[in-house]
Amino acid sequence: MKILVDFDDVLSDTFAELENREGSAADPSAQDLREMFPGIDLRIYLESLDFYREIPPVSGAAEGVKGIIARGHEVRYTSARSPDVEGVSREWLNDWGFPDVPLKCLGREGKKELLRTELYDLLIDDQMRYLKIAREQGRRALALDRRWNGRWDGDRIASWEDIERAL
Ligand SMILES: [Mg+2]
Repeated sequence: MKILVDFDDVLSDTFAELENREGSAADPSAQDLREMFPGIDLRIYLESLDFYREIPPVSGAAEGVKGIIARGHEVRYTSARSPDVEGVSREWLNDWGFPDVPLKCLGREGKKELLRTELYDLLIDDQMRYLKIAREQGRRALALDRRWNGRWDGDRIASWEDIERAL
């Protein structure tokens, strides 16, 4: 299978890092960071290369991706991060021991476009806006449990430890 793997809150624990810095989110089930953290100018983080460097990985993510590849699947990291942070994101993947497979940081609209046009078998993501597009295209869409995707009615895994069973 060709498997697209999201970055923020799938590989990197971005939400947790924001809560570390800003305290609990006002609405952790919101679909957008601006609703989760109203009153904070998120650009101070999302335009900061240092912020991206300091985000911890999601537990088990690197091992999970390695396991997928070991089973013969093709993996691509596919992110709605700005293309401006693709370089620092690549460094972060290397620093944390993630497999060296292609990474695309496309911005939100670019990621939606790719999900509509590229051929792939499975998307692993935390955001329902992307999971829904994959499903509309007839792809398999697998959510990693997060407080903001509780209403996703498709396949889900509780953690990366469950990925091999879910494939
Ligand atoms: Mg994400």
